[in-house]
Parts: sequence; C-alpha cells; structure tokens
Amino acid sequence: MRKRVLILLGPPGAGKGTVGNSLSKQWGIPIISSGDILREHLKANTDIGNIAKKYVESGELVPDDVVEGMIADELKKTIYANGFIIDGFPRTVNQAKMLDKIIENTNTKVLYLKADDDFLVNRLSKRRVCEGCGKTYHLINISPQKEGICDICGGKLIQRADDREDVVRRRLAAYKELTTPLIEYYDRKKILFSVNGNGELIDTLTEIKKTFEW
Ligand code: AMP
Repeated sequence: MRKRVLILLGPPGAGKGTVGNSLSKQWGIPIISSGDILREHLKANTDIGNIAKKYVESGELVPDDVVEGMIADELKKTIYANGFIIDGFPRTVNQAKMLDKIIENTNTKVLYLKADDDFLVNRLSKRRVCEGCGKTYHLINISPQKEGICDICGGKLIQRADDREDVVRRRLAAYKELTTPLIEYYDRKKILFSVNGNGELIDTLTEIKKTFEW
C-alpha cells in the first residue's frame, strides 16, 4: 500500500485541528500542524520563533522560506515515514509546490473544510485555550465548569493573541488572498474532497467518515 498523506485545507477555525486529531487516532497516523510548531518556537524563543512572532501575533502569514524549511525538517523524522496528516501547511501555492516534491509517489488526498466568515469569527473569538494542557473551550458552547479554569488540569484559560476578533478577520483575509487558490490547485489534480465545516464538529466528522475514501 502506498504511503497515505492527508492535507487539511480550510479557513482558520473550520476545525482542521480537531478533525485532524480525530482522524489521526482513527487511522493511526501522526498529525503535523505548522501553527502548533510555530507556537512552540515562539514559546522557546528560537530563531524561527523570533522571526515568526510578529506575523503570528498579527494574523499574517510567516514568509514561505521560514515555514518551508521548518516543515521540511520536521517531515524528515521517522515517525512520518509511513504517512501523515498535515494541518495548516501548505497555505500558499509556493508551499504546495514544495510539499509536492516531498509527497511524490504517495497516495495524497486533500480534505477541504468549508465555512463562512461570521461562523468562524464567532468560534475563534470566543475560543479559550488552557495554558497548561492546551485543551480548547468555547465561552458559550464548551464552557469550563469553573470560569477561566481548565476542567482537565486546573490550568488557566487564556485567549490566543491571534484569536482576538480584529486579528481573526486579518487571518481570514490572508486565507482568502493566499490560500484559496490552493483549492483550485488541488481540484485540478482531482484529489480534493469538500465537507461542510459550518456546524458542530461531530457532524463534520460524521460526514467525513461517511463520504471520504482513500
Ligand atoms: P494556525 O494555528 O494554523 O491558524 O496558524 C497560526 C499562525 O501561524 C497563522 O496565522 C500564521 O501566522 C502562522 N502560520 C501557520 N502555518 C503557516 C503557513 N503554512 N505559512 C505561513 N504562516 C503560517
């Protein structure tokens, strides 16, 4: 069987992380998230983190060469040798071309989660994340038992700097300008599957389980 690669495409907040983690458990293949790796670099004050900080915090895309090098290095790790799910990368046609070289001869599919701006602004601007374990909450839909405190580890719940409404709108604008062309790019290759990301994540997952085939 050829190695499987699943690329998750869709606007910020459409549920790529949640869907990807669920599929990763179900299929037993690892997930790699460019946003998570960048946030780790920011926390650890690495060279990449210092370059990326201003872009991540303002909702703009980090320059291609920085992210491409970071992802190429990560994908050399043996855990990805038998396939992977990738979330947040590529975000530009240049990045997609770079990834094409790495995934040559694999069975690659692209899962596109479609969602509307107003839905996404509501989901992201009301999202809170545990500083300790990373679990995510939503102020209205998934609120913690004690306000501001994580149910799992007791850590403090915070808002990601890039989840502020003004920054969310900038992230959506960057997505439309630079990432939307990727939908056509992969559609032309006949490897694009679209699902509705405009609702409860459990419904999106059910739709994927019913319709998605390798
Ligand atoms: P995410 O968690 O995927 O929404 O990513 C958070 C932020 O990290 C984005 O708003 C960008 O600033 C940066 N980022 C993540 N992935 C990429 C990428 N593939 N290219 C450029 N910037 C990225």
